[in-house]
Amino acid sequence: MSAHEERVPLHTKILLGLVLGAVAGAGANLWAGADPERRAGVAFLADAVAHPVGQVFLRLLFLVVVPLVFASLALGVANLGDLRRLGRLGGRTLAFFFLTTSFAATLGITQMHLFEPGSGFDAETRQALMQQFSSSAADYQAKSQFRAGTSTIDNVNNVLDWFLPRNVLGAITRMEMLPMILLALFFGAALTGVAEARRKFMCDWLETVADAMVGIVGFAMKLAPFAVFCLVYGVVAKFGLDLLQKLALYVAVVLGGYLVVLFVFYPLLIATLARRSPLDYLRRALPILVTAFSTSSSSATLPTSLRVTQQDMGIRREVAGFVLPLGATLNMNGTALFEGCVVLFVAQVFGIDLSFGQQVLVVFLCVVSAVGAAGVPGGSLPLIMTVMAQVGVPPDGIALVLGVDRLLDMGRTVVNVMGDVVCCGYVERSEAARDTA
Ligand code: ASP
Repeated sequence: MSAHEERVPLHTKILLGLVLGAVAGAGANLWAGADPERRAGVAFLADAVAHPVGQVFLRLLFLVVVPLVFASLALGVANLGDLRRLGRLGGRTLAFFFLTTSFAATLGITQMHLFEPGSGFDAETRQALMQQFSSSAADYQAKSQFRAGTSTIDNVNNVLDWFLPRNVLGAITRMEMLPMILLALFFGAALTGVAEARRKFMCDWLETVADAMVGIVGFAMKLAPFAVFCLVYGVVAKFGLDLLQKLALYVAVVLGGYLVVLFVFYPLLIATLARRSPLDYLRRALPILVTAFSTSSSSATLPTSLRVTQQDMGIRREVAGFVLPLGATLNMNGTALFEGCVVLFVAQVFGIDLSFGQQVLVVFLCVVSAVGAAGVPGGSLPLIMTVMAQVGVPPDGIALVLGVDRLLDMGRTVVNVMGDVVCCGYVERSEAARDTA
């Protein structure tokens, strides 16, 4: 039976899995309370049953990310036909990414000033949290790729390695996406100069690879409702509800920021730049948003975004194939907002006053590190520690917020992915307007 013939659409089933997983997880969490035996039982169920099911689904999606991003992006660029068009499209897309990410980071910092969730934070709780999460914080710090070099040449080489490493394949196998994106862009751009017949052959080949990868995603999606149930159950069942209480104001401010971006900022952009009905646009994007929320991963959501934008949102293949793979790696508005919030929150808890200049630097660094963050769960955490260190906020202070991070990660991934989908609408409209002119 094809997806069209199914009575209940897949995204409704996934949504159901999400809600039931949250209810089951919250039930288990409340039932276990503080009883160590019950807590161990709940954790066992989450780790031994829910975790593997969720991971099989996620890993099937990750499996296709590298070939899918390469094929869609190279094809997107090659199909643009000439490099001037690439320059125009690329310029618009990058300007959109840069402006929206800067807005989001500034919003995060502004909110922190307005509500000051970190001021007057109870010293005992601070101590306890720092102790409880110190080893996870150390793990994240070890993962950070951006360690300050000892000399200028070291620093310059670090930046070069970030997007143009000597060994591109090595970087790709480590799932570092920036070098692969550059390779795909160059490959597609170079193809535009190859003789028509051979270019067409290569484009057909790339299209087949992309379609086959989407086919694999189709298999994974059959698992999605159950996997999403398990992923969400695992997060909620083990979630420290007591922690949520202690960090309630911080969590509320960050979530509030996400809501402003999703329901005020994006609708404005959809209405003015994409010239579409914001409500309809968001409704059509629902399957993408549900996938982003339940996987906490922009990369794992990419296959769904590529499919839904082309099938249900009227975005042409060359636009979706260009904007979405770039956006999944470079455009993370939710992450930038979140990073600004974390830096300011930890600074407030430690009683550190950041000057205006330092805060401008934080915005800039949040934008840069949102570009560099991997689109996987918790991908931005190692980078935030680097931002903190740059402005004299103790990086291990991130331990304060790690306990509630998964919840915020789900939210910021939704904001990240929706930003790319909004950008698609904008680029699609501007290209269509040009074509008719
Ligand atoms: N989970 C986020 C994403 O995949 C990245 C992050 O902010 O940790 O978009």
